[in-house]
Amino acid sequence: MTKGKLIIISSPSGGGKGTLIKEVRDLLPDMGYSCSHTTRPKRFGEEEGREYFFIDRKEFERRIKGGDFLEYATVHGNLYGTSLTESNKVANSGKDLIVEVDVQGALSIMERKRDDSISIFILPPSFEVLRARLTSRATEDAAELHTRLKNSFAEVMQYVNFDYVIVNEHLTTAAQQIAAIITANRQSRDRQRDAIRSILDSFDAARHLFEGE
Ligand code: 5GP
Repeated sequence: MTKGKLIIISSPSGGGKGTLIKEVRDLLPDMGYSCSHTTRPKRFGEEEGREYFFIDRKEFERRIKGGDFLEYATVHGNLYGTSLTESNKVANSGKDLIVEVDVQGALSIMERKRDDSISIFILPPSFEVLRARLTSRATEDAAELHTRLKNSFAEVMQYVNFDYVIVNEHLTTAAQQIAAIITANRQSRDRQRDAIRSILDSFDAARHLFEGE
């Protein structure tokens, strides 16, 4: 079976990735999703195993040593990582897998899995919009908000490393654009090898109908 692709989605914090990914999964329900692990404290409204698996630093470090992560990174002072087992399971099932990672995580996956991945960078329409989004979700205290905004300057410049850039101005449009990228890639000749082979087999089987003509 042709393997699925890793769809790497990255953006500065507050870029709106989370909501956008939910929307993309509604448009393409056959996408796989891997829930990350983090040492960050759970926010109000978040659920274990839905947004993240929340583990402490000791457990995270134990898992790093055990080679449990496809990638991991320290983001705004907390550790975040994508499970290797979970991501391999999805890829081997032939499904595409969305991985939502910060730019360091994205670069680390691209280094090792260039041919197996499609990287998409989400840009906010402007700094002001990013600031407004981060402020209005009110999930961070003032110091944390400051760190995230400050880090966003270096993060936006990373767009150069990605295959695609989406400006997240209107949620529905941005989600449709991401779904279009994923759908187009599924139609590539390489990924349709198996389907094409069985179609051509049917032509081979029917060739005798025209023998002698
Ligand atoms: P938040 O704390 O706002 O949920 O996420 C902070 C940052 O960590 C975001 O940029 C998010 O994309 C990133 N992130 C979430 N999961 C992972 C992961 O598994 N690996 C890496 N490298 N970054 C992650």
